[in-house]
Amino acid sequence: MNATAQLAAAVVPAAGRGERLGPGAPKALRELGGVPLLVHAVRALARSRAVGLVVVAAPADGVAEVAALLDSHGLDGKDIRVVAGGATRQESVRLGLAAIPADTGIVLVHDAARPLVPVEVVDAVAAAVRAGAEAVVPAVPLADTVKRVEPRPAGGPEPVLDTPDRATLRAVQTPQGFLRATLHQVHEKALAEEAEGGLPPVTDDAGLVERFGGRVVVVPGHEEAFKVTRPLDLVLAEAVLARRRASDGF
Ligand code: C5P
Repeated sequence: MNATAQLAAAVVPAAGRGERLGPGAPKALRELGGVPLLVHAVRALARSRAVGLVVVAAPADGVAEVAALLDSHGLDGKDIRVVAGGATRQESVRLGLAAIPADTGIVLVHDAARPLVPVEVVDAVAAAVRAGAEAVVPAVPLADTVKRVEPRPAGGPEPVLDTPDRATLRAVQTPQGFLRATLHQVHEKALAEEAEGGLPPVTDDAGLVERFGGRVVVVPGHEEAFKVTRPLDLVLAEAVLARRRASDGF
């Protein structure tokens, strides 16, 4: 492996509309502290000494705009590339992965919607893959009790099926880390299955590794790595950012 290949490459799926956040620009371009969520997320990755390349999967009609935006924010001299994303998160990750050199050993996948992930989490995930795990997810324990239900999309009370033991549950975050070869292989398998009308897309990459029998391990995540999904999440993110700026001039 050459020196560059020893560094991890990161894929940032940023092609979602973010409809749960309300009307407006694509979610990755919404601002937090006057800076787009995507720029925060890419900065968090670029700040890690474990990361050498960041590939952003942008909305297909916004590649040039996103590239110009990232350019204008000067991101620690790291190699940043922008490719067109797809119709699902899974497809966006696959397209981002295709832009990563084949001799890259480790790939991290990080949601643009998690702008405040601390660099320590990025480093810890990359280190766990380097130490021998093929798939690593950062995660936190749950505050709420969780129930499985029979969904009633049309409305009305939903029957409860059961209540998993909360002590065995984790809410998973990103960046998730993988051996590049493993992630590439499971995305190709999923694509082949999809073409045959198979299983629906997954909501995280570790889920694909699990689907095809791989071993996934969890390392501690961080409460500030939460995903900005709903309007209230933006309020919380603004507060976290203001606290950071006040405490260390971030
Ligand atoms: O919709 P959700 O919040 O799960 O999206 C997680 C991440 O996946 C976001 O950063 C979003 O921009 C990205 N995504 C994507 N392509 C899609 C849908 C979502 O890159 N088609």
